[in-house]
Amino acid sequence: MTDEPSGFPYAPAPESTAIVNISSSYGIFIDGAFVEPADAPRFKTINPATEEVLSEVCQAGAPEVAAAVAAARRAHDEVWSAMSGAERGKYVYRLARLLQERARELAVLESMDNGKPIRESRDVDLPLAAAHFFYHAGWADKLDHAGLGRDPRSLGVAAQIIPWNFPLLMLAWKVAPALATGNTVVLKPAETTPLTALAFAELCQQADLPPGVVNIVTGDGRTGQLLAECEGVDKVAFTGSTEVGKQIQRSLAGTRRRLTLELGGKAANIIFDDAPLDEAVEGIVNGIYFNQGHVCCAGSRLLVQESIVEDLLVRLRRRLQTLRVGDPLDKNTDVGAINSAAQLERIVALAESGDAEGAQRWSAPCTLPDRGFWFPPTIFTSVSTAHRIAREEIFGPVLSVLTFRTPDEAVEKANNTPYGLSAGIWTEKGSRILWMASRLRAGVVWANTFNQFDPASPFGGYGESGFGREGGRAGLAAYLQEASS
Ligand code: NAP
Ligand code: MG
Repeated sequence: MTDEPSGFPYAPAPESTAIVNISSSYGIFIDGAFVEPADAPRFKTINPATEEVLSEVCQAGAPEVAAAVAAARRAHDEVWSAMSGAERGKYVYRLARLLQERARELAVLESMDNGKPIRESRDVDLPLAAAHFFYHAGWADKLDHAGLGRDPRSLGVAAQIIPWNFPLLMLAWKVAPALATGNTVVLKPAETTPLTALAFAELCQQADLPPGVVNIVTGDGRTGQLLAECEGVDKVAFTGSTEVGKQIQRSLAGTRRRLTLELGGKAANIIFDDAPLDEAVEGIVNGIYFNQGHVCCAGSRLLVQESIVEDLLVRLRRRLQTLRVGDPLDKNTDVGAINSAAQLERIVALAESGDAEGAQRWSAPCTLPDRGFWFPPTIFTSVSTAHRIAREEIFGPVLSVLTFRTPDEAVEKANNTPYGLSAGIWTEKGSRILWMASRLRAGVVWANTFNQFDPASPFGGYGESGFGREGGRAGLAAYLQEASS
């Protein structure tokens, strides 16, 4: 077995951007219309693969956030919560259909604003976002029969704050269950990726959604904080870093506001010596290099049984040499751009801490573009559990490899983290999968696969990965009064 990959060279296969129509500037979406606050500051959003400015958006301040919450309150009390579930379901269904109809345009827009490969935005983000709306459209008229209490009632106005790694998909995870359960929404997209959320606002107009049911306020963390703390909000749903999650939890302490937190992770992907190694390699690649590793549930700690580590690493390095890094809009690209200069800086700093603490770095040989933010797929070996790269979330295409000898040791190392979002187990033995799964402290455990998602399957964390579930019946409970969440 050699380390050299073989195969034919690829010709470029660029996706056209002609289908996307980006305005040079956007207002804030309040009460069914885009408003342009006269004195709100504006900031630019760029394409991280080229550093080209795509558009300018508003930094919503306290008056705009208050206006959005007031619009959502009116829409909730006067229209949305009074509507039958069957009627609400039709709107949610319509949004699902519109997402499908405009899928290609939205996928290109997402890749431009975020830097993720078009292959992923087209085949993962968009289909899953539509699936979330379809799934929840089906729940809207069945809430009385879902075991969620007798006559379950909406909470009211949901403040929803999302990160930049799956902008439209995270919006779908938040908005679809809220609307299906009769809540109205004020959503703040991340500062670096506001464009698909603003396109979704247009979809709400196209769907004739009653004004105020969905409001989108753009801005940075300050806007997020204003929204989470705004008078009139009944529930805060946050996805992002553990640090900001804790801050929000502190600021909500003592209020009657409900809170769900989907935070960071440092998942173990555990490979036993009887695992089918080539399949495991695919799972490892999917686990940590998918979406440049900007994935909360990424399999960023690889735990390999000692007897097979050399064999596995040869296969893994050979596979990484076939990954194509570069233009996100090329249909052949596997790994796109890092989302921002700030995130690249963080990845570089953590990788350097790996070097300094004595781990061995190997990066796939690849030519990175001159402009934009890039980091090559990287593996660290000789990692110990005390190293920062084994403990802290890197949120980039960087894998830390550790070894174990026995299943007990694998469990102990996997659980040696304050996080607990996901884990992966690779073995031929079904009994070992069940034994491991019952001991791993993680919200999701995948067996002989990784990064599988379905709107019917609840997702969420333990410990510092947060609380509350999104998706499935459990995800509905987080938006209903009489249900336990
Ligand atoms: P972040 O800095 O916590 O930002 C998340 C969102 O919160 C952004 O919209 C951000 O605005 C906003 N925000 C920042 N400071 C705030 C404050 N004080 N109050 C209210 N909102 C505030 O996280 P990130 O670095 O963008 O995203 C990466 C993190 O998200 C990772 O830790 C990852 O694991 C986690 N994540 C978790 C899940 C999950 O389901 N568990 C899914 C995806 C990502 P700005 O963008 O303007 O800063
Ligand atoms: Mg941020």
